[in-house]
Amino acid sequence: MTPDEIERLQQQNSEQKRRIAELEGRVIEAERNAKSATSDAATDGPAVISESEETLKRLVQRTAMIVQAEKCVIIVRDRESMELYARTPAYGLTDMELARYRVPSGEGICGQVYEEATTYTLRDASTDALAIEERLTSFNINNGIFVPLTIEKRDDENRIVERLHIGVLACFNKRYKGDFIEEDLRLLERLSRNAAAVIANDQMFREVIEEKQKLVHTLESLTAGLLLINQFDRIGQMNAQARAIFGVEPGQNPIGKPYAEVLKNEDCIEIVKKRIENAAPVEGEEVKPDEITVTDADNTDYVYQMHTAHVSGDDNKNLGIVIIFNDITEIRAVEKMKTEFVSIVSHELRTPLTPMKGFISNLIQDENEEWFDKTLRREFYQIIDQNVDRLGRLIDDLLNVSRIEKGAGLEMRWEQVDLRDAAEQVASMQRGRTDKHTISVDFNPDQIMAETDRDKIQNVLHNILSNAIKYSPDGGDITIIGRIEPATSEKPESVLVGVRDQGMGLTSNDLKKVGEKFFRTETGNKARVGGTGIGLFLVKGIMAAHNGRIWPESEGLGKGTTFWCEFPKNRPEGGADTTTINTDG
Ligand code: ADP
Repeated sequence: MTPDEIERLQQQNSEQKRRIAELEGRVIEAERNAKSATSDAATDGPAVISESEETLKRLVQRTAMIVQAEKCVIIVRDRESMELYARTPAYGLTDMELARYRVPSGEGICGQVYEEATTYTLRDASTDALAIEERLTSFNINNGIFVPLTIEKRDDENRIVERLHIGVLACFNKRYKGDFIEEDLRLLERLSRNAAAVIANDQMFREVIEEKQKLVHTLESLTAGLLLINQFDRIGQMNAQARAIFGVEPGQNPIGKPYAEVLKNEDCIEIVKKRIENAAPVEGEEVKPDEITVTDADNTDYVYQMHTAHVSGDDNKNLGIVIIFNDITEIRAVEKMKTEFVSIVSHELRTPLTPMKGFISNLIQDENEEWFDKTLRREFYQIIDQNVDRLGRLIDDLLNVSRIEKGAGLEMRWEQVDLRDAAEQVASMQRGRTDKHTISVDFNPDQIMAETDRDKIQNVLHNILSNAIKYSPDGGDITIIGRIEPATSEKPESVLVGVRDQGMGLTSNDLKKVGEKFFRTETGNKARVGGTGIGLFLVKGIMAAHNGRIWPESEGLGKGTTFWCEFPKNRPEGGADTTTINTDG
């Protein structure tokens, strides 16, 4: 070797040393940045996501600069689809490119680097089989280097006890159309160690936040009310349904407020207080749910069942209590109605029996037919006959209700019926029951024929007409109205039959509920008018068998009521002889 050559080699050597020192200086600085980012992120918690995003941005930028690459991306695994995807922030890739950079698990270079935790140097993206699989050229990528992102768990003696692969760090396109060399890969490997810690932390924050959001969304969409009261007697969680129950306005945030301030229901506050004071129940011990009644802004009462449980952390530390509120208003209302119904029906069955028994006893005692003359005896027989009919109708109604209930349906005998004639007949029978009311029939046109079941339609008229009499205790005019409704695009030609009275009327709330099984209005009950609350339920069933409907109209309490029935003039298509009726609606 000539002295010149030796000198040239020495110069090259010192130049290389200088470059290495410079690069090492940059690596140390990058490591320091990454470390401070890791400790920031670890102490400040999820609130610093945007800060950690900033740190990652600097990290990808610097990494790209150090290895002189045009692009740098962090690739992580999607926990749900198990795909590897490029996450934000990245350097040198557009948001659109990032969004479509997804690699199915185990595929492409990323798949191999992630699964096997090895490095990879990509020389030419257009010929490399794995790069083609990963469609790297579609991101304008020519060459690149890939290293696994791994976190190491160490024990007290600094021995590695666990290695966790969390993703891949990749740099693409060596600047100035150069090639990545072994040294670049080593540098990237070194950088990746600290980057992994920052990314793992950030990833953890995101997952925690995502999980929390998912949980909050799930809780929000529950149909039951959910309330969490923490160990400081403050609201920790209150879902939409619970907020609605206790009338928390949309803009208000109840979280963190004392529960007694938010719940505003004496009974509920009392129960919560008791539950908080009592220690958690012994395992296996049955805890009975509590029950509260809450009155809403419209003055409607709702009954809620409250299931309470104590919440404790891993170390058995008390974290408060959780309460689930279930709306059982309907269940309680039906239970109440059923109990009342049994006593009402017994009473209603007994009512016609009393006169029957009385007159029959009198007739039996008059052994020689001397006490009562023929006219009086006939009157007795008529009263007995009427009461037998009444009893018969009540039993028929009960049987029909049970048929509707069982889904067995009503038996319909379809025929052409003169509705005016049917109405006149019902009116004259009912006139005998009252001398306080004037009952008239107003049909336009005079004769209305409809295909229906005569008995059933008379049953309907009997029911609504006797209601009109019962619920107008002060008397007044009662009119049976008949009209024809022309066909429209939605319904065929129909018949409208209504009964108008000048009686007690109905509140807007009652209007919605009339026709529900066993429903009787408060005013009706208070006026001590006898009834079972099944008449209109049956009428609704008979109308359903006609594909028709019934609805009440009233201007309000004391202003009278009109009950309207509308059904097709001709037997509806599919109007079977026995109809199974859905009376829920
Ligand atoms: P009931 O046997 O109690 O009369 P119905 O099913 O026929 O049962 O009626 C249900 C309830 O609807 C009644 O208890 C009453 O409160 C109310 N109601 C029915 N018709 C009228 C009316 N014409 N005016 C006022 N309230 C009525």
